[in-house]
Amino acid sequence: MMSRFWSPLVHSLVPYVPGEQPKLANLVKLNTNENPYGPSPAAIAAMQAALGDDLRLYPDPDADVLKQAIARYYAVDKSMVFVGNGSDEVLAHVFHGLLQHGQPILFPDITYSFYPVYCGLYGVKYRQIPLDDSFSINLSDYGCRNGGIIFPNPNAPTGVLTPVAHIEALLQENTGSVVVIDEAYIDFGGETAVPLTQQYPNLLVIQTLSKSRSLAGLRVGLAIGHPELIEALDRIKNSFNSYPLGRMAIAGAAAAFDDVDYFRHTTSAVINSRVTLCNELAALGFDVLPSAANFVFARHPGHDGSTLTQALRERSVIVRHFKAPRIDQFLRITVGSPEQNAALVSALRAILQR
Ligand SMILES: *Cc1c(COP(=O)(O)O)cnc(C)c1O
Repeated sequence: MMSRFWSPLVHSLVPYVPGEQPKLANLVKLNTNENPYGPSPAAIAAMQAALGDDLRLYPDPDADVLKQAIARYYAVDKSMVFVGNGSDEVLAHVFHGLLQHGQPILFPDITYSFYPVYCGLYGVKYRQIPLDDSFSINLSDYGCRNGGIIFPNPNAPTGVLTPVAHIEALLQENTGSVVVIDEAYIDFGGETAVPLTQQYPNLLVIQTLSKSRSLAGLRVGLAIGHPELIEALDRIKNSFNSYPLGRMAIAGAAAAFDDVDYFRHTTSAVINSRVTLCNELAALGFDVLPSAANFVFARHPGHDGSTLTQALRERSVIVRHFKAPRIDQFLRITVGSPEQNAALVSALRAILQR
């Protein structure tokens, strides 16, 4: 569609397409990396307490209670914390406020497909650096002049982890531009780069409450970095929407960060299920990339990725498939509950035996 009422920018946009949220009941939904467990009961209680007459009042524009909870959890100063309406919004402000310079920014050829979308929205030039043959990010390939570097750790949609020591080596070399680590899945077995933000003023770490804290529906994301970087994000935010987080989101997210026991319990349950799922997929003949996330990336040497995705859908199991070069034979499968994973495995067994 085209319209003479659209700005030239709108004509040029190629928007991100999120994984579908089907309205059908009884689906085994393993396509958008949601957590199979509910949010912390303490987070639900905090949101219920926030649900009342106070909703007539605007929320705290600085979401102080939430920033304090995050600062406590990571033992950083509150001035190093930024929060937004999902990490997708935080990332948008990062592209707009910290990555838009003359030089192209660098990110992997296979990565979160929202990055090129933000580049289109904000006019950021970029260069894609190929993953190596084992689908790992090789940071020694990121040595050229750049306007910034961004990648998820673990990477999406591969699940492959980059060791924090490699990130520190990159930071020692790359001092002239911002390095952004998108840690959407770090809590499922990786080591966070947050402590390095104390030492490297050009490091910004992004996280979300959508995956490991089971709050995708609440829309809360965050960034941690030097106050100078946070100030840029605050300036953008306060030129865009002063109140990105509502009262319920601030209360629920803060309580989720405080409930460390529940968080540890549910993330380790997901990690254990991932180990089981990887073994079962391997037994069915799949090549499974080593995952440190709450999803696995797997291909079958004898079955086409798109055909398998469709066959699973016919059995009410929804997984994600990307029609991109190098990865079009893979399925990205969210680690679900033990029951969901068992349903996936038995559907696959039936399909492969056909
Ligand atoms: C899920 C995801 C996000 C977005 O998370 P929200 O906080 O729900 O917007 C960001 N980056 C990566 C790599 C993700 O997989």
